[in-house]
Amino acid sequence: MDYKALLDRIAQEVAPLVGSGTPAEYIPALATVDPGRFGMAVADVDGNVYGSGDWERPFSTQSVTKVFALALALSLGGDDLWERVGREPSGNPFNSLVQLEYENGIPRNPFINAGALVVTDRLQTLTGDASSEVLGFLRQESGNQELAFAQEVAASESEHGDRNAALAHFMASYGNIVNPVPVLLDHYFWQCSIEMSCADLALAARFLARHGLRADGTRLLTRSEAKQMNAVMMTCGTYDAAGEFAYRVGLPGKSGVGGGIIAVVPGRCTVCVWSPALDEQGNSVAGVAALDRFTTLTGLSVF
Ligand code: GLU
Repeated sequence: MDYKALLDRIAQEVAPLVGSGTPAEYIPALATVDPGRFGMAVADVDGNVYGSGDWERPFSTQSVTKVFALALALSLGGDDLWERVGREPSGNPFNSLVQLEYENGIPRNPFINAGALVVTDRLQTLTGDASSEVLGFLRQESGNQELAFAQEVAASESEHGDRNAALAHFMASYGNIVNPVPVLLDHYFWQCSIEMSCADLALAARFLARHGLRADGTRLLTRSEAKQMNAVMMTCGTYDAAGEFAYRVGLPGKSGVGGGIIAVVPGRCTVCVWSPALDEQGNSVAGVAALDRFTTLTGLSVF
């Protein structure tokens, strides 16, 4: 397949949508990003990477990193994690508190903020330095040793982090957070602040297309765990619009409020798209449209 020509065509087709929506404003450091940006990259299972537009320009990965933290926590700690976090779509905004009380401090899934905080807590217990583990993992899988935390973004999020602090303290009251909440929040904010390009992210996510194999050929997840992760991405990876994303795109995906989305074609390739303006659910407007065009033009969906 001529991915480069395909991506250029998609970039042209979705150009009228770039800038529709609003960049995330609740993290002030993200609100200043140019909404006119658009990049898209495909990495095949052999590590070849193709791109269009701003595909090599770093952006704030935010919740896309939740995928990598979950993979590490499962790989190092196994299935015990699933006693502390569910695998059902929440049907609520990503930072909602309401469900947690009804469900005794057990978050619906690992991709809403409450669930990701539990994953980070687990990773902190397993490694003693959750955010550095995630950063090191992303560097290794992308091959980009320059990846780093964005201090300004992490600080901005921490300053405006009352909602995440509330979620963490609330879960701690049920015994579902075991590390000190301030330490946990620091690691979570650092992890969310990591900046990467579409090329970096597409390469780093390849273990999900390679049925659990890392870039160096060693095994991170069993084939079955890789299937399970892709399934949770499909059902829970794009906030409370996962049904719509499955309908339009038909691939496991994970989005972030920085405007990035990764999607996986198991056995074949990973796709990363970035455009900062978001819809009301928090997904990139042009990003979802581009992935919709990708699977429509190629037939590469899981359905
Ligand atoms: N750091 C963001 C938060 O915790 C991540 C949200 C997201 O990308 O979904 O609010």
